[in-house]
Amino acid sequence: MDPSSAGAGGNSLATSSCGDAQKRRVCYFYDPEVGNYYYGQGHPMKPHRVRMTHALLAHYGLLAAGKMQVLRPLPARDRDLCRFHSDDYVAFLRTVTPETQFDQIRSLRRFNVGEDCPVFDGLYAYCQTYAGASVGAAVKLNHGTHDIAINWSGGLHHAKKSEASGFCYVNDIVLAILELLKLHERVLYIDIDIHHGDGVEEAFYTTNRVMTVSFHKFGDYFPGTGDIRDIGYSEGKYYCLNVPLDDGIDDDSYQSIFKPIIGKVMEMYRPGAVVLQCGADSLSGDRLGCFNLSGKGHAECVKFMRSFNVPLLLLGGGGYTIRNVARCWCYETGVALGEELREKLPYNEYYEYFGPEYSLFVAASNMENRNTNKQLEEIKCNILDNLSKLQHAPSVQFEERIPETKLPEPDEDQEDPDERHDPDSDMVLDDHNKPLGHSARSLIHNMGVKREYTETETKDQHGKRLTTEHKGPEPMAEDLGSSKQTPPADANAMAINAPGNGRNEPGSSPK
Ligand SMILES: [Zn+2]
Repeated sequence: MDPSSAGAGGNSLATSSCGDAQKRRVCYFYDPEVGNYYYGQGHPMKPHRVRMTHALLAHYGLLAAGKMQVLRPLPARDRDLCRFHSDDYVAFLRTVTPETQFDQIRSLRRFNVGEDCPVFDGLYAYCQTYAGASVGAAVKLNHGTHDIAINWSGGLHHAKKSEASGFCYVNDIVLAILELLKLHERVLYIDIDIHHGDGVEEAFYTTNRVMTVSFHKFGDYFPGTGDIRDIGYSEGKYYCLNVPLDDGIDDDSYQSIFKPIIGKVMEMYRPGAVVLQCGADSLSGDRLGCFNLSGKGHAECVKFMRSFNVPLLLLGGGGYTIRNVARCWCYETGVALGEELREKLPYNEYYEYFGPEYSLFVAASNMENRNTNKQLEEIKCNILDNLSKLQHAPSVQFEERIPETKLPEPDEDQEDPDERHDPDSDMVLDDHNKPLGHSARSLIHNMGVKREYTETETKDQHGKRLTTEHKGPEPMAEDLGSSKQTPPADANAMAINAPGNGRNEPGSSPK
């Protein structure tokens, strides 16, 4: 099957430009603090990679006026996180500290915090930041002001309702999808991280309002789930797809299965919005991964999804060879914008990381591809067969839905300027119908959403736009103000290095 023939969109991918010359309105969420969070010595997860990505974007000129809206996220609050996570788990994350954690051994065990998911300084603020960015990005798409929203600090797909897992504490993806479900009847989730997107799959396993599709290494590999036979349950049956892959998959093999499957999914499911988790540990040479995708091969998934012109949320995820992660996500931001970026990396504060080639492109290696064409064909047929059993674009009964695009009356929100969500608008997560005893069935009972944002666009001394999105009088104004007093040499690190954050300062120079 010709991959380009699958689906209504995606036919322009053979062109040399970014698939579709038509411009997209893009917003990009970034918090200058995020690069300071530090999982601990030797831990492979390094939020610093998001700051490196940002530096590349800045030096490629993608943060300049007219390219995309650059937004600083509002931190997610307890109640935002509790739309998916349990109250006691969120309370634990909020209160646990590196110093006191050993007084709570039972809780550490119960919530799976300690080993892969260590307690570190600022842990809760970190969760609030990356989750707030993903939810904020979903809100932007719902408002219809942007076609593509990006949060490279998000995509932490392993977190469960009451459990940390695989370096993930709160599941910003589930929270963002819940936000999108306020407006859209169907949301498609696609996961190209090398690991199975288990937390998102589990959250929506029994509903047809979210279709999850995960491409991952399967077989003696974390987290161990993602069998091709796991296809959803109850009303969610056939609304979950798992594509198990083996070591060394290259660009051609990957796209020979990605495009036909996703093309068919788009045609059959017709989602109102798409969330693409762009985990970069599927790239060649990843510290924890074993695939052989080049940066361009990875980005082809972004290009393909962009071509459908459906509201698109791009999230980060895994990625442990951080010079590759930064290059990949920078390149993919260019793809979102429809810009071909020059191969030669511009000079930037992390330039040493990228030697000796100083190229934007992550190259594949000569490692063996253990996925045979025959195996891939079988997997593809198996999954297309499941897709054929899918009810064509199921309609969903809505009750008293207030479209997100309708902004609330101005006076409704002014009673509490700190409110992000109207308390009445919170969704109820209904736990009945659990398959396997642990899946959360998500049903939205009250679609009324009242929210108002004002945006303050600020320029730093390089003229880079940094917009604070808020609705209160001046939250975050202090940070932006202090950023102007830092030396111009390191615009991206300025607010980050503001005094008094009390956090470790990892990796600010190459090691
Ligand atoms: Zn991963």
